[in-house]
Amino acid sequence: MIPFLDLKAINAQYRDELVAAATRVIDSGWYIQGQEVSAFEQEFADYCGTQHCIGVANGLEALTLTLRAWKEQGRLKDGDEVIVPANTYIASILAITENCLTPVLVEPDEASYNLCPKNTEAAITSRSRAMLPVHLYGQLADMPALMDIAERHKLLVLEDAAQAHGASLNDRKAGSWGHAAGFSFYPGKNLGALGDAGAITTNDDELATVLRALGNYGSHKKYENRYQGVNSRLDEMQAAMLRVKLPHQEKEIAARRQVAHAYINGIKNDALTLPLTLGTSSLAFHSHVWHLFVIRCQQREDLQQHLADHGVQTLIHYPIPPHHQQAYRNWQEQNFPETEALHKQVLSLPIGPTLAEEHTKQVVKACNAWKAS
Ligand SMILES: *Cc1c(COP(=O)(O)O)cnc(C)c1O
Repeated sequence: MIPFLDLKAINAQYRDELVAAATRVIDSGWYIQGQEVSAFEQEFADYCGTQHCIGVANGLEALTLTLRAWKEQGRLKDGDEVIVPANTYIASILAITENCLTPVLVEPDEASYNLCPKNTEAAITSRSRAMLPVHLYGQLADMPALMDIAERHKLLVLEDAAQAHGASLNDRKAGSWGHAAGFSFYPGKNLGALGDAGAITTNDDELATVLRALGNYGSHKKYENRYQGVNSRLDEMQAAMLRVKLPHQEKEIAARRQVAHAYINGIKNDALTLPLTLGTSSLAFHSHVWHLFVIRCQQREDLQQHLADHGVQTLIHYPIPPHHQQAYRNWQEQNFPETEALHKQVLSLPIGPTLAEEHTKQVVKACNAWKAS
């Protein structure tokens, strides 16, 4: 079976370096808030092109703490509306509701599946205070258009960049467009730790200071607590793992692009809709880092079975939209036809920096051999 993602093979590429880094941490005797974390924060901020990077425990908390920080600063208050794509991973929505803010779900752009500027503008009310664009599947949302809307309506912008490390448009990377951005380093993300980890990037000095305190019991200074904070810290061990992997990101992105292009050029089956990228210009080329390669098909279950029969493991991102989740059962009445269609039709093909060329070919062949009934 061609695995959907071979994490073992990905990390095996750097085994010696990872072991050396882990040994360095073990021998240091210092495991929380030390040199590895501050070095990684600096390196990741430089990578994204931002002033600050604040390490946190995971991607969900990167998003939750940023909204919380804006509340502490008085820039958001209970009940304020936050515009967010209806077809996102649940974490984007949890970060909003955890803060007693009101998510306003909008239908995605039909081509990119990202937050649609037109639908965003139409969703703005007198209570709108922020938007949370998600760079879904690794492709940057239309940030120039969204930032223009944000500026005109004085909205705060929090990028959910959990799937888009290194994606860039007009030479600006994911994480450097909004007022802040949340990243996840969950092991299966493009830049993955060997456990849970996350970070926030921003150019806002004051926000960075509030965030550092919030994730550390609300404390700027030992035993002095300005906020009712939480414990959400990136630890030395994961920071050390990430420092090994960050310098290899561009190479890994290039390998993912190679797989994506082999699929785009090789899959010829009218019953399958391939992902549409913003275009073929080199600018648009850099806007997608292919965290996931997602196709659409009317008879998804049949296709998934066919691919499994041909030795290809696939996954569904995501089978149930947030407004149909038990957790949000009071939203059942809301209708998002495009979002609902996506959740019924999407299928993610294997993609990863170590996927062998012969496996890519096998996936293409299996896709081309499938016939709609
Ligand atoms: C993975 C992910 C998150 C959450 O990250 P964790 O580190 O797993 O908490 C948030 N948003 C999106 C879009 C994600 O894919």
